[in-house]
Amino acid sequence: MVDHRRLGRELDLFDSDPLIGAGLPFWLPGGAAARHAVESYLYELERRAGYRHVHSPALGKRQMYEMSGHWRNYAEDMWPSMRVGGDELVLRPSQCPHHALIFKSRQRSYRDLPLRIAELGPMYRSERSGVIGGLGRVRSIQLNDAHIFCARDQVSAEVAGVLRLMREAHAALGFEPSSYRLSLRGEGGKYAGDDAMWDLASALLREALDGVDYSEAPGEAAFYGPKIDVQIADPLGRESTLATIQVDFHQPAAFDLEYVDARGGRSRPVMVHRSLVGSMERLFGHLIEVHRGAFPVWYAPVQLAVLPVGEEQDGAARALAAAAVEAGLRAEVHAEGSIGARVRAVAERKIPYGGVIGSREAPDGLVALRHRDGRQVPARPVAAALDEIREAARPPRSR
Ligand SMILES: [Zn+2]
Repeated sequence: MVDHRRLGRELDLFDSDPLIGAGLPFWLPGGAAARHAVESYLYELERRAGYRHVHSPALGKRQMYEMSGHWRNYAEDMWPSMRVGGDELVLRPSQCPHHALIFKSRQRSYRDLPLRIAELGPMYRSERSGVIGGLGRVRSIQLNDAHIFCARDQVSAEVAGVLRLMREAHAALGFEPSSYRLSLRGEGGKYAGDDAMWDLASALLREALDGVDYSEAPGEAAFYGPKIDVQIADPLGRESTLATIQVDFHQPAAFDLEYVDARGGRSRPVMVHRSLVGSMERLFGHLIEVHRGAFPVWYAPVQLAVLPVGEEQDGAARALAAAAVEAGLRAEVHAEGSIGARVRAVAERKIPYGGVIGSREAPDGLVALRHRDGRQVPARPVAAALDEIREAARPPRSR
């Protein structure tokens, strides 16, 4: 069975150390390179879809979380607060309050809406030691997050737009969700806001899900509103939530957000919380398992391994790797050990392309490419081989 924890360590993607702490994995250069490619792709996808990216701090005052409702409804997932000077600071468990205050930091008009604020930023949750492990559940989280501030009559179109963008991102990354779930309010008092607000938010999400096959899950909503959960399954068939869309009337009221409407009056925006692919941690845990470590070329940690057959071809191999790096690819030279062992190692590392340079190729500036699937291409000029790899390494773009 494919286990992302074992494979992630074998492929030098991520690891952990008891001295850093449980649930606090670190990304090795290979994993960090793959993640950077995915983050850049997401940034571009969002930019073209009208999102505005921001940066905000991973800390905030306790008072802010009391206003947002986190302090009352979400305390068990938060780290204890820290006293610094006269302030009481909290590591943020989500980015919503920061983005609400970014909205509030400028006067907004109906012409600014929908305002889509995005950030791939850190947040921290105090997951109990029993449930943490690998990349699936961690205490330090990098979430692909955004909050759409819009008028009430824009919510359905915005949610539908997020669903389309999600499908595009999932297809580009090479996976399909296992199911869609509409998570609703359950029994108990851990929910903020009134009944009318919950009914309206749930109705808006149902409308956006028209034509989608989904199940309803009472008791799985966020404390501030219902949500669409996009589920993934691990190799044992256990489901977890990767991506979400949430409709929230509560936090805009809690922070007294408003905009100038078309009649010159004051109106309150709705907040749509969304993540296209969830946290980088859970996403990569899933991608490692789905692809068995053989990522699509565009986010493979190393895209080309250059293999000089003998020492005499070292110079040509280094020149090719340097040209590949210059062309924007991730390439390295593998020169240690027998050529057979190196070819096998390239396959075991799941590197998409091996470029063999022997005594026949080097004098004429040629390279013989071996594809990850075992296909071998006759030797041809280095520039043509690099063009092929660059084409394959381009992230998919449907629009
Ligand atoms: Zn949020």
